[in-house]
Amino acid sequence: MALRLYDSMTRELRVLSPSHADGVFRFYNCGPTVYAPAHIGNFRTFLINDVVRRLLELQFGPAKVKHVRNLTDVDDKTIKRARDEGRPLADVTRQWTEKFHADCAALNCLVPHDEPRATDPRHLRGQVDMIDVLLRKGNAYRAPDGSVYFKVSSFPGYGALSRVKERELQPGDALKALAADADEKEDGSDFALWKAWKPDDGDNQWPGPEGAAPGRPGWHIECSAMSKAILGETIDLHTGGVDLLFPHHENEIAQSECCNGQQLSRHWYHSEHLLVDGKKMSKSLGNLYTLDELTAKGVSPMAVRYALLAGHPRKQLNFSLDSLHAAESAMAKLHAYGQSLSTDGDAVALDPVRAALHDDLNIPAALGALFTLVNRGPQGVPKAAFDEVLWTLGLKPTAPGAAAATAPAPVVALAEQRWTAKQARDFKAADTLRGELAAAGWSMLDGKDGYKLEPLKK
Ligand code: AMP
Ligand code: ZN
Repeated sequence: MALRLYDSMTRELRVLSPSHADGVFRFYNCGPTVYAPAHIGNFRTFLINDVVRRLLELQFGPAKVKHVRNLTDVDDKTIKRARDEGRPLADVTRQWTEKFHADCAALNCLVPHDEPRATDPRHLRGQVDMIDVLLRKGNAYRAPDGSVYFKVSSFPGYGALSRVKERELQPGDALKALAADADEKEDGSDFALWKAWKPDDGDNQWPGPEGAAPGRPGWHIECSAMSKAILGETIDLHTGGVDLLFPHHENEIAQSECCNGQQLSRHWYHSEHLLVDGKKMSKSLGNLYTLDELTAKGVSPMAVRYALLAGHPRKQLNFSLDSLHAAESAMAKLHAYGQSLSTDGDAVALDPVRAALHDDLNIPAALGALFTLVNRGPQGVPKAAFDEVLWTLGLKPTAPGAAAATAPAPVVALAEQRWTAKQARDFKAADTLRGELAAAGWSMLDGKDGYKLEPLKK
């Protein structure tokens, strides 16, 4: 089954394929800025990318996919945070990187094969080298304060991804303002490759490109330099949230293609935002939820994963706490269904689910097809094929109550055995296990889709 994904550059669905002689598919995904916990809007994007990674592994084999996701560990926000807390920048970014990794693990995300940091000396070198080339080729210039800017007019291809030139003709369009990030540039649409040190930057400065002042790299250049260092000049798929399409990805293309003389990415994919009450979930609007805030309300991380994946990735998704309750009960149903399956059956039963995932990552259609099977019953559906689909979605359903129960592990194990026995209609074994649970001081309350454990009152 070919894997087709919408390409933001050509604006059509295209089949994904590796282009390098080694057959390794090169996948680059813009990562988080590490100065605070990522919110679940960010995680919507990272989870969609996790499903892309899983589909690529199924398609080309786990050894034939290389997935890189960067960490932005220097920019205005990270520096401000360090300054406000009176801590070294590296301390702050380490803390939030660790938190990001813990949240990714709780949400069952596969770990990227490389996770480069902008301030890694090797990658600082790579960024400075690229800027040196752009200066030599006349695509960049030094400003009076020692910063370096990319000269947008030097790259005729600028705007191909975002159609920014067409959009600029629209009245009231704020795109120019968006691209503007300093006063020293020759033209409003030029963007910073290197930012000369300012007093607000504190200790955070590095030696710059030739003839430039000490300072720090601009944000866009980090992805160009790090994808080149790890994946090579041309990658097979580059992704991020829609807000990255312009100016970030447009600028990455300009820098990389002027420097290398090669296409940066063969395919671009952008997923849509998570909204709250019709507005983008974002730190600046203060309308965000973190994973911790939701788990503190008793929601399981798997339900969060399910709820964030349940909408079409290329459509905006409105977040509500109700969607988490629905997700929790969907997970319980999937758990119970998985328990009821045997090795018998034909894997083609899952084809409609797989087909939807391969057709531009239509996750809602895939879940719809999956629940059609669940509602029909276990006949003819082999457990291995069902498990593979759950793996592709990264869902690990558990019985409700099991995850939240404060019961000790041996009690949860007994409960799981009893639930399985009951699903298999082995009531004798289920009764025996109920007795064992009672002897351990626990009672098990059975629901339609799962169970709850409660301590027996003495
Ligand atoms: P940042 O840490 O701000 O660089 O963002 C990390 C990723 O999260 C980027 O790919 C953004 O496009 C994405 N993102 C930010 N806000 C949202 C949102 N509300 N919904 C979905 N993705 C988002
Ligand atoms: Zn990027």
